[in-house]
Amino acid sequence: MRFKEIVQPTTLDQVVSEMNNSKYTIIGGGLFLKLQKGYVNKGIDLSKLNLDYIRDEEDRIRIGAMTTLRELEKSSLFPDCIGQSVLQVGGVGLRNLATIGGSVSGKYSFSDIGTALIALDARLRFHLYGEIPMIEYLNSNTVKNDILVEVSFSKVGFSSFKAFKHNYTDFALVNICVTSGDKIRIAVGARPGKAVLIKDINTKHNAQELLRDVEFSNDFRGTGAYRRSVAETMLSDILKEGLFWK
Ligand SMILES: Cc1cc2nc3c(=O)[nH]c(=O)nc-3n(C[C@H](O)[C@H](O)[C@H](O)COP(=O)(O)OP(=O)(O)OC[C@H]3O[C@@H](n4cnc5c(N)ncnc54)[C@H](O)[C@@H]3O)c2cc1C
Repeated sequence: MRFKEIVQPTTLDQVVSEMNNSKYTIIGGGLFLKLQKGYVNKGIDLSKLNLDYIRDEEDRIRIGAMTTLRELEKSSLFPDCIGQSVLQVGGVGLRNLATIGGSVSGKYSFSDIGTALIALDARLRFHLYGEIPMIEYLNSNTVKNDILVEVSFSKVGFSSFKAFKHNYTDFALVNICVTSGDKIRIAVGARPGKAVLIKDINTKHNAQELLRDVEFSNDFRGTGAYRRSVAETMLSDILKEGLFWK
């Protein structure tokens, strides 16, 4: 994507007034936008808004939308699944630029960190709309023409993320994340559809039974049946790791 001009507002209100004035595209790390074709009048770069922060509160962790995946990877504040999911994304150069805001706003079905955030029951804060659970954001068009400001989630005890990739820098064939906080949450992504949460988890069920109602389908990376089989193995390993299942 190419821009006629790029503006760098220093307040969120300035962003909104730039959004009202002409056709625009918001720029996070700019990586995915760079891959897109087209010509847009105005790019609104969020890098001057001080949205690159990680805040550790008593029971919640808050991450500014412009925080890069590399910063998440280096921090020791996060549950294991965050580092595990981020480490699967490209190389260090890519993670130095890609932001959590861009990764979430794009609603990418292949997303690794997206699956981890769904299993963490993350909430998103938009400047105009306010707060919304990430799972609701993914599955609706409620929030439009807005700026994602912050991603937050409650602290959890155990968490584990696994992805299966044909090679290190490829998108996942399927990914899976389990967290245990107030309850056990299991998210499955890159099916290749958007990440879903498994409902009504019964700890007497094995991985195969837990994944029974999750839909997996075919694309050029693999068949639905293959994805299901890989997901069952990864989930079975995580359940043993977390000692939820004997
Ligand atoms: C070569 C390559 C390989 C990749 N591999 C993987 C992978 O294996 N696994 C994985 O999970 N991800 C992967 N990604 C995706 C990457 O992790 C990021 O999700 C992606 O680059 C988007 O982040 P960004 O900051 O660059 O966003 P941008 O490209 O700047 O923006 C993406 C979209 O989000 C919008 N946007 C950005 N920030 C905001 C905001 N704060 N508020 C509202 N809208 C916003 C933009 O307008 C745009 O529509 C890959 C990306 C590339 C380029």
